[in-house]
Amino acid sequence: MVLLGPPGSGKGTQAERLAAKLSVPAISTGEMLRAAVAQGSALGARVEGVMASGQLVSDELMAEVVQDRLAKDDCKGGFLLDGYPRTAAQTQTLDDILDDLGERLDHVIYLSVPEEELVRRALLRQRDDDTEEVIQERLRVYRNETEPLVAHYEQAGLLRRVDGDRSMDEVTAAMLEAIR
Ligand code: ADP
Repeated sequence: MVLLGPPGSGKGTQAERLAAKLSVPAISTGEMLRAAVAQGSALGARVEGVMASGQLVSDELMAEVVQDRLAKDDCKGGFLLDGYPRTAAQTQTLDDILDDLGERLDHVIYLSVPEEELVRRALLRQRDDDTEEVIQERLRVYRNETEPLVAHYEQAGLLRRVDGDRSMDEVTAAMLEAIR
């Protein structure tokens, strides 16, 4: 399953909750990259500057990261992806990786939240290195690169829309209902 939505839509929180309910791993590419930066690994060194600017890490590098992660044993019974795919090229890569594994996507949940609410939430949860410009840049990149994936997955018949402008419990319940 894939969770799609703008920065600040609550994807991370909901991914954890849903994954626990469904007993599958929640795989957050943002978390994986932040962990790599914190550890000072070679991957971390390569992505640190790009992440801090609000830009996207290259599709090629992300393909390696996701391919390695999805090949792990804990993904055999399914998994929930949060933060991947984020570009048209990444949807193609994901399809290829899943083909190789003999898997396919069951659901893509789109968490929709109005823009003003996104900015408000982003300013509230601001990480140390997040300036308002970086937050705006993330939203801009999201609109240009990631928002078009909603139409792509809609055409593929996989998209389920969930209103994310509600309490966390209501959103979790609506997501579980959407994939029932
Ligand atoms: P946000 O804080 O915008 O919700 P995440 O925590 O998912 O974003 O990711 C933080 C950063 O990590 C992104 O702004 C981007 O630089 C990088 N990143 C995460 N996932 C991807 C991806 N699929 N492709 C490219 N870059 C990514």
